[in-house]
Amino acid sequence: MTQDSRASTLILGTRNPHKVREMARLLEPAGIVVLSIPAEVEFPPEVGSTFSENALPKAQAAAAATGQPSIADDSGIESAALGGAPGVRSARYAGPRATDQENLELFIREVPVGDGLRYVCALAYVDPKAGIERIFCGYCEGRMAPGPRGSGGFGYDPVFIPQATGDTRTMAELSDEEKDSLSHRGDAARNFLSWRSP
Ligand code: IMP
Repeated sequence: MTQDSRASTLILGTRNPHKVREMARLLEPAGIVVLSIPAEVEFPPEVGSTFSENALPKAQAAAAATGQPSIADDSGIESAALGGAPGVRSARYAGPRATDQENLELFIREVPVGDGLRYVCALAYVDPKAGIERIFCGYCEGRMAPGPRGSGGFGYDPVFIPQATGDTRTMAELSDEEKDSLSHRGDAARNFLSWRSP
């Protein structure tokens, strides 16, 4: 029997409930069932200097623990004024155990209004039986809002004005469908889906 690299069930290597929701929204319409990683699985510490270097060990950990094809993303925001920071440290920007709110408040203090921003997502796919490991990247360009607005999304979304809408709404003011259509995670997920079913 040949191994099917286009598995229809994937283990998602994250405990971030926002990422779980977004990934399910992005992949389930393509017939993929996204299952959460079992609670006892431990993730390796994030020590990489790139999003890809951090995404792959998470997907490998999920695949090793379950024996099933797995995905995981590492994502973050880059500010031009901060030379690309916080980047891979986006989740820990205000400290090792910082909340999304604390990270957002520090970002607002440090990033000038109108600054060029970019969201980046590296989505790692690991199929342990077929021996496949792939990374799919996604990007979303935007700029710094004058102040936080909106209650959708998560993380830095209240201050991120995506370029692609052509208006001044922040990511947190978009509907789920709009965010998915232009987000870094949506971009990476679409790249994964076109590889899986060209
Ligand atoms: P990690 O990938 O678990 O290291 O964390 C990524 C961090 O980047 C999150 O904690 C958020 O602060 C930020 N981030 C990633 N994707 C998004 C997004 O779609 N909206 C807002 N913030 C995001």
